[in-house]
Amino acid sequence: MDTVWIKDVGKKDIGIAGGKGANLGEMINKGLPVPPGFIITAKAFRNFLKESGIEKKLFDILMIDIDDDAQLKDAEKKAKQLIFNTKIPENIKKEILDKYRTLCNEEGGEVFVAVRSSATAEDLPDASFAGQQDTFLNIKGEEQLIDAVKKCWASLYGARAIFYRVKKNFDHEKVNIAVVVQKMVNAEKAGVMFTSHPSSGENVAIIESIWGLGEAVVSGMVSPDNFVIDKETYRIIDKKISEKTKMCIKDPKTGDTIYIDVPQDKRNAESLTDDEIKELVNLGNKIERIYRFPQDVEWAIENGKIFILQSRAITTINNNNIVKEGISKEPILIGTGASPGIVSGRVVIINSIKDLNKVEKGDIMVAKMTSPDMVPAMERASGIVTDEGGMTCHAAIVSRELGTPCIVGSKKATKVLKNGDTITIDGAKGTIYKGRIDTKTETKEEVVIKNKPIITATEVKVNISIPSAAERAAKTGADGVGLLRIEHMVLTLPMHPQKYIDEGRSEEYVDELVKGIKTVADAFYPKPVWVRTIDAPTDEFRAMPGGEGEPIEANPMLGWRGIRRDLTIKEHFRLEMRAFKKLFNMGYDNVGIMLPLIQHPYEIREAKQMMIDEGIDLNKVEWGIMVETPAAAILIEDIIKEGIDYISFGTNDLIQYTLAIDRNNENVSYMYDEEHPAVLKLIKYVIDKCNEAGVKTSVCGQAGSNPKIVEKLVEYGIKSVSSNIDGVADVREAVARKERQIILESALKSIKKDG
Ligand code: PEP
Ligand code: MG
Repeated sequence: MDTVWIKDVGKKDIGIAGGKGANLGEMINKGLPVPPGFIITAKAFRNFLKESGIEKKLFDILMIDIDDDAQLKDAEKKAKQLIFNTKIPENIKKEILDKYRTLCNEEGGEVFVAVRSSATAEDLPDASFAGQQDTFLNIKGEEQLIDAVKKCWASLYGARAIFYRVKKNFDHEKVNIAVVVQKMVNAEKAGVMFTSHPSSGENVAIIESIWGLGEAVVSGMVSPDNFVIDKETYRIIDKKISEKTKMCIKDPKTGDTIYIDVPQDKRNAESLTDDEIKELVNLGNKIERIYRFPQDVEWAIENGKIFILQSRAITTINNNNIVKEGISKEPILIGTGASPGIVSGRVVIINSIKDLNKVEKGDIMVAKMTSPDMVPAMERASGIVTDEGGMTCHAAIVSRELGTPCIVGSKKATKVLKNGDTITIDGAKGTIYKGRIDTKTETKEEVVIKNKPIITATEVKVNISIPSAAERAAKTGADGVGLLRIEHMVLTLPMHPQKYIDEGRSEEYVDELVKGIKTVADAFYPKPVWVRTIDAPTDEFRAMPGGEGEPIEANPMLGWRGIRRDLTIKEHFRLEMRAFKKLFNMGYDNVGIMLPLIQHPYEIREAKQMMIDEGIDLNKVEWGIMVETPAAAILIEDIIKEGIDYISFGTNDLIQYTLAIDRNNENVSYMYDEEHPAVLKLIKYVIDKCNEAGVKTSVCGQAGSNPKIVEKLVEYGIKSVSSNIDGVADVREAVARKERQIILESALKSIKKDG
């Protein structure tokens, strides 16, 4: 099947229709106003490569050093040319044109269409590469359509796409592309909407809008109007009306997409009415409910009717929302803060591609606007400033992805700033200062703690992987450590644990473990620190010096990891226990032991015996298991009988094993669902059984950092939750809110009963 109607696909069809196509189909089916059209499937692209015999040649072209800008540009040129110069086989061409003719018949004549690429890997919900591939607007007639389809296919090999693919370990040969052909909306106004703040994740809708086609916003040609709206009450919290000098339209004579001057009376006028804003937010809320994740939505208005052109997950929300203080000077320039963070550095102005190699690590790159071929240089820069653009322009998207502070729409940075100047930029506020400024940094959670410590009945703990983060973690005021992953200490040792054993240096290994755990136990003493025995997959061990002997597994996530590994190479487990014993002898009575990836009570029994054999007094020491497999959840009553004090849900694994979603496989990540009813049912069951038996419960997977899930778990009666460092403050608030609700509800119930 080389083509399919958009209305006939849904979100499960990413493999056929690409992310964009599958999303559009899903939205049509959920009643959203999406323009009609069809999709040239990913299979059609594969068939094109195969049947025309250019596959090998194409992939050979891509074998380059991606950090070399010149090689990258050359590969782009050659790959694109190869695709342009290759004829589409007749059978594929016929299917495409048949669908186009049917669309034209249904719409009452030859229609203009938008032709957009829809990548099957890059547009997936957890990667924000969407928008890298090209879009061709106002395409009419069979010849133009075929031409645009080829351009979309070729756009899969833009320099930025090639660069990202290698950086993110996507295999070029596996990356596919579908093409969406959709009736063109001849927009009088258009733009984008974020259904949550794209950097901070704050629960507001942000709309950017301009006159004419939305291309002008996405390309950064025009600084758009910006509206911030309360998603629940639809109140407009903030409005910035910019001067919109240019607009993108369809040339009435040629049908080409052109830029024209905006008529004087409309330049400074608000491009959206309050009613349109309300309707847009309403649609945004609907879309967010469909995807259960904040979305970046492109929309357009034609003859007063709103159309949704596409929607994709926002992947750039930075929960490390940093509150920074300390800059008191007057800024020399102000733009729009597009990616938060404060940095100082040397200015490098980019006037042409030739300047890119001048950008060195730590520089602040200043350009009119950025483009895909600038990405390698952007990656080296510590900050980015542009003259043009809004929150969704190339510079903004890429810098958020890279976590690099960025200011867009400064209007004149390339003119006001000089090469070699030292400046400081604040990517949250959008301000640029002369010179290097020392800033004091406070994390959001520190600010919350300082201002209003909240006491909750449910303990709010923190997860730690790197001992050096212990101090920062302790400052959150967390009630302890819900998960200390020791494998991170081990994987950064100079050699594989087996090598320590083979070389007779086991004590050194034990001392390394003691050192790392002690750092955390000290930072939190006397609060509890739950330390998990080693749980790293074989592929990570193999990467260590001396790890060559690790087995090569098809799916390490289902492989030799966690307790099953420690029960087969028992010496490793014994050495870990020796480290615990040393810590207990040193008086660290706040350390607990947790066993990972349990799937049967016998594993606990064996591990327990080894702990006793190593001289650990389980009457004095608290110990427990991670509930990470459906088996452990289902058998929880038998597991409790083994004498555990504690369980903690490892939701990352529990979700993966319950839903059959490999957490490392981006092809299925869109189905990874923390709120899946099967997962919640298992969790509730385990909490109920543990509460009956007096076993403490906690959660330390990623879901424990999600306030929404945490509220549910508190409702289920969990005794403790453990979040990432940057989530502690929000999680604590969510816990407090839920606990108050529960108290209030039970008070109301008892009043009703009494009265
Ligand atoms: C989990 O599975 O949720 C967990 C916390 O363990 P890890 O992410 O280390 O597998
Ligand atoms: Mg796990």
